Amino acid sequence: MEHRADIAVIGGGFGGALMAMVARQQGHSVVLIEKGAHPRFAIGESSTPLANLFLQQIAEKFNLPQLLPFRRWGEWQQKFPDIGCGLKRGFSFFHHESGQPFSDNPERSKQLLVAASPRDELADTHWFREDFDQHFVSEAQSLGVEYFDRTELIDFHEISDHVLLIGKKGGEKINFRVDFVVDASGPRGCLFRLLRLSERNLPLMPATSGLFAHFNNVDSWDSEEGVPYPVEDAAVHHVFDGGWVWVLKFNNGITSAGVAATQEKVKSLRLSEGAVGWDLLLNHLPTLAEQFRGADTQNDFVFVRELSFGLDEVVGNRWAILPPAAGFIDPLLSTGFALTLQGIIRLAELLPSPSKDDLLLYQRQTLNELDQVSHLVGALYSNMDDFEIFTALTQLYFVAVSFAETANRLGKPDLANSYLLCEHPDFGQSTREICELAVHSNNRETILRKISKAIEPFNISGLADPSRRNWYPVVLDDLFCSAAKLQSTDSEIREMLLREGML
Ligand SMILES: Cc1cc2nc3c(=O)[nH]c(=O)nc-3n(C[C@H](O)[C@H](O)[C@H](O)COP(=O)(O)OP(=O)(O)OC[C@H]3O[C@@H](n4cnc5c(N)ncnc54)[C@H](O)[C@@H]3O)c2cc1C
Repeated sequence: MEHRADIAVIGGGFGGALMAMVARQQGHSVVLIEKGAHPRFAIGESSTPLANLFLQQIAEKFNLPQLLPFRRWGEWQQKFPDIGCGLKRGFSFFHHESGQPFSDNPERSKQLLVAASPRDELADTHWFREDFDQHFVSEAQSLGVEYFDRTELIDFHEISDHVLLIGKKGGEKINFRVDFVVDASGPRGCLFRLLRLSERNLPLMPATSGLFAHFNNVDSWDSEEGVPYPVEDAAVHHVFDGGWVWVLKFNNGITSAGVAATQEKVKSLRLSEGAVGWDLLLNHLPTLAEQFRGADTQNDFVFVRELSFGLDEVVGNRWAILPPAAGFIDPLLSTGFALTLQGIIRLAELLPSPSKDDLLLYQRQTLNELDQVSHLVGALYSNMDDFEIFTALTQLYFVAVSFAETANRLGKPDLANSYLLCEHPDFGQSTREICELAVHSNNRETILRKISKAIEPFNISGLADPSRRNWYPVVLDDLFCSAAKLQSTDSEIREMLLREGML
């Protein structure tokens, strides 16, 4: 059987479903092709302010108001209480010494708490993908997207004015004749295999593996008095030399947890052996072991031998690959959703017949942004044994994303039109140089000084202020004091804060 459509989207995760919805709203006929079936386990769950801003922009640009409640905890709880969700008020980091219980000092030099929102109602979320992706696919179908699950694509033919995708569904042959293909099938996905695309080296990034699962009955991690937000209502990162553990709590009793680590740690902790590796890991992190003492897994552990990957080609005449299928660095800093959603906006504006130049621009932006993440995450891995440098390096991330989000909310997107400001002539280049230095040099003072200098013109949230001793609540005065950095007046800032419900 042959199906004809303007656009084929491969991969029915939230990325593919959203891409299909947007293309449909632009008046195109769309087929969405998924090799599995919903509901299904999926990893990659923690959203960020910038990702939520991109989701809001998709909703507004493409007339998809049904997406808006998902940009914030409060609206989500009100409108979709049955779709699993976690409360994310910020990013919590704790640094552990192997075999030692977690402990800190009055300077709080072993922790970092960065708030992203002033209160729960406005907070970011963790997306329980089993529910979330299924909901988005149903939404796509209700807009007229034709959805084919349990469909395996086995061949791709580019013929002068169309693409022929050949697949199988339930043992039967199924063909799709389309004008353009968007690949949203995730890491080392469909077009990577069908077109035999090659992988490239990712700058500064060591080889890492991941081990993760969903758990029940995970205990709590206590908050000290005076914290900017309850430390567990966040993406919680437990950092140790050679790797880090994430813990994300959902409102359905499930906790997502996993570890990403360098090959040396993968070997010494036997992470490829699943539960055995997880137990060995917890032996090295006794305070975390306490938290997981009564926990049991909901599903089998998933081990991913090579977490990071990158393609060197992400567009062709009649196809383009969304960022998460074009490359992935690491869950650290939760960069995946923002890149996915930004990629959807960029591609949607080009459909249905992008010019060669437009596609090459999309490719350049996608690869540059992945490279920037790779520089930063690579530098962070190199400094997981030195939490002061690690913390300083994270400021390159926090400063760039908070500046970009605020500039966009102020209606000044030109101030920050690339992820992590990677194409900014000063900040982008300085970040890469600092990351190189942080990997190849032991000159701590120089690294700290250069970071301080690089972030200053973009720091609008009081980050890196030593008097705050690594706790950064949302302080609106910081923003007013930084109005000039955003080329804005106090009244523009005030209006924006009122619009966003922050005042
Ligand atoms: C361990 C880990 C943790 C992460 N944590 C975060 C995080 O906290 N925050 C964040 O922002 N990002 C995170 N990410 C990245 C995040 O997972 C991705 O950005 C996100 O999943 C992209 O969603 P997607 O729907 O585009 O792709 P995916 O979630 O990868 O979905 C792809 C879909 O395509 C289908 N598919 C695959 N192959 C084919 C094929 N040949 N034909 C048809 N269908 C196919 C799959 O079955 C799947 O349904 C993480 C990634 C990993 C690996």
